[in-house]
Amino acid sequence: MPIHFKNVNFHYPNSANGVFDINLEIKDGEFLAVIGPSGSGKSTLLKMLSGFATPTSGSVILDGQDITRMPPEKRQLGIVFQSYGLFPHMSARDNVAYPLKIRGINKEQRQAMALEALDRVSLKNWAHNMPLSLSGGQQQRVALARALVFSPKALLLDEPLSALDAALRVEMRDEILRVQRSANIATLHVTHDQEEALSIADRIAIMQAGRIIQLGSPKELYDNPVNRWVASFIGQANLWDGKISKQNNHVETPAGILCCDTGNYPPGTPVTVMIRPESIVPGIKQEQPQNNILQGTIHADRFLGSARRIDLQIKQALLRIDTLSREPFEHVTIPAASIKLLPAE
Ligand code: ADP
Repeated sequence: MPIHFKNVNFHYPNSANGVFDINLEIKDGEFLAVIGPSGSGKSTLLKMLSGFATPTSGSVILDGQDITRMPPEKRQLGIVFQSYGLFPHMSARDNVAYPLKIRGINKEQRQAMALEALDRVSLKNWAHNMPLSLSGGQQQRVALARALVFSPKALLLDEPLSALDAALRVEMRDEILRVQRSANIATLHVTHDQEEALSIADRIAIMQAGRIIQLGSPKELYDNPVNRWVASFIGQANLWDGKISKQNNHVETPAGILCCDTGNYPPGTPVTVMIRPESIVPGIKQEQPQNNILQGTIHADRFLGSARRIDLQIKQALLRIDTLSREPFEHVTIPAASIKLLPAE
């Protein structure tokens, strides 16, 4: 069922903190991630959906119904927390069956439904295990099964992978997405891990100081960040101060004058120049006349296993390059299309 935050504001009493001007729709079946640094308002947003905070103004709509002031237990939301929140004295199956018990479903039926839910997260054979005899990843799967067993109206994921180690986090991303897709349920996923959000979400809302400053698909956010802060928050980027050149479709940068699409910026306008490290090609590639070919000296060369990260000193600029190439080089090609201009700061 769709979720809609409509003109929502929340002010913490006696402070300037809160969340402001939130207009956000999560479609049925959509996976929306909310990301942002600590203190940007992610938890506050989640609390207003779960019912643990009431907006100062505006409304929260779930499946067309205004739930702004509805108590949490009436909202029919499945919630998964970072801390799993399992009952330690109950088996995996009894944990999953618990939401059915409080909804008055008879024992036989709820045990069968719990087993089926555990099967969906590949834990049918662990149904009799107590939580502490399960790994962190397995406990989080039980929590996911418990959140979905009663066919909730929407799913809330509150930093669900933060307690897991790095390799397991990546594996569980796929698992969460698979289960979310098969349940086809509107999902709000709060995380501080931008890579997790990029890999899993249909759309991402980026929060800063209580506001959503950009909302879009992972690709839109990565390729066309609204400002320098978003560009550096989502992935790695070379970010330079530049100025639109008098020469048509050229920008002055600390690495020289580069050809790119200058859009509607008039000559002389200060801009931020963004170049993603993996869009730079080592060597001289002259296939496209708009390619920028630069020469520099290697300042740092790091082997990262799957890639190589190089800092190339070009005039006044340090250009970071991520490449699969293992060959030595002193020239690089920057295609005009991989240079993005953002507002100057
Ligand atoms: P996040 O989840 O992104 O870390 P929060 O939603 O917890 O951010 O917090 C948003 C802002 O509100 C922060 O500036 C935080 O310090 C502030 N805040 C959180 N709880 C309270 C509170 N009880 N009283 C006053 N300010 C608070």
